[in-house]
Amino acid sequence: MDLDPPDPSHAATPTIPPSAPPTLSAMTQPAHVPSSTSHQIIPTTSATPCRNLNPQNNAPASQAIITPPPQMDPSLMQALEALQVSTRDTPAGTSREQEEALETDFNMLIKIKENQGSPRPLTIHQVSRDLRQTWGERYAAVSAIAANSGLFLATFHNGPDMMHIVRRQPWTVQRQNILLELHTPNRDLNSYTFQYLYANVRVYGLAFEFRTPQIINAILHRIGLPSDLDEQLELHIQRDECYAQVRAKLRVHLPAVDRMTVQVTPTMEHTVYFHYERISRICTFCGYYFHNNTDCPPRIARIMNGENVMDPLGRWMTRLSYMPWNDIYRQVRVIIPRLI
Ligand SMILES: [Zn+2]
Repeated sequence: MDLDPPDPSHAATPTIPPSAPPTLSAMTQPAHVPSSTSHQIIPTTSATPCRNLNPQNNAPASQAIITPPPQMDPSLMQALEALQVSTRDTPAGTSREQEEALETDFNMLIKIKENQGSPRPLTIHQVSRDLRQTWGERYAAVSAIAANSGLFLATFHNGPDMMHIVRRQPWTVQRQNILLELHTPNRDLNSYTFQYLYANVRVYGLAFEFRTPQIINAILHRIGLPSDLDEQLELHIQRDECYAQVRAKLRVHLPAVDRMTVQVTPTMEHTVYFHYERISRICTFCGYYFHNNTDCPPRIARIMNGENVMDPLGRWMTRLSYMPWNDIYRQVRVIIPRLI
């Protein structure tokens, strides 16, 4: 497949960068990052006091209806096609709407999934403004690779600034979480899959003494994967009576999980509830990220069919006030019989 590099100016003046550009492997090797940042985890907003906010809002306990994920992201395909058109049909340099003329070896691809609720694609100005607001001076410029398909390229001044942004995910643009991949020159754009989103997840309803490495690990593998960019810090796991905070690598091509049953002792099971920090939208009908239930096509189709639709997943995934606090209190304050 004859793919031009995303930046037409590279094609016009092929030069070898002075140092090897960062690769995806850098994401899995925290040793590349200065040690001062290697243990940082996104500071959370003030811990939610363990109060009984709304005991009435217990969601139905049935499990999620799982819709098979699409095999290939059609919008990414469109982006790739658009990219080829734009690099072929326009003079070098004019297909990118640049904030400033700046090129470095530190580039990151940004994928912004379409929100079914607002089908208008984001403009480069919206993306640029939001990134400048949240990332400040850490990033230099953003270019639209294929804005209609939500594909952008962010350029950073240096590697540590870029890794800072990678490590402190999730980020949002216009209330939509963005997916990031480090950009490698000459890499086939088809091979970028945008499968992962790093986030802090709160695990509610697990008493302090059950927050063992084994149980935390099992929970992380139910949510997604343990983050390979951060350690699971004891400080965060034991930070609050009601919840353990873990760092997860979410697989966005799979539905999110709202709860899980944990065998805490040979004779006792607890249900733990998951809250995804700084994730804007998770559908309580199908479980997929990037849209709410009111914009969920299969849910709308069922309603239009005259069916009585009940969402199987809990809204607490993104809205703390919907946590089933009574269950959580009962479990975290459980008296465990001990052998003396
Ligand atoms: Zn949905």
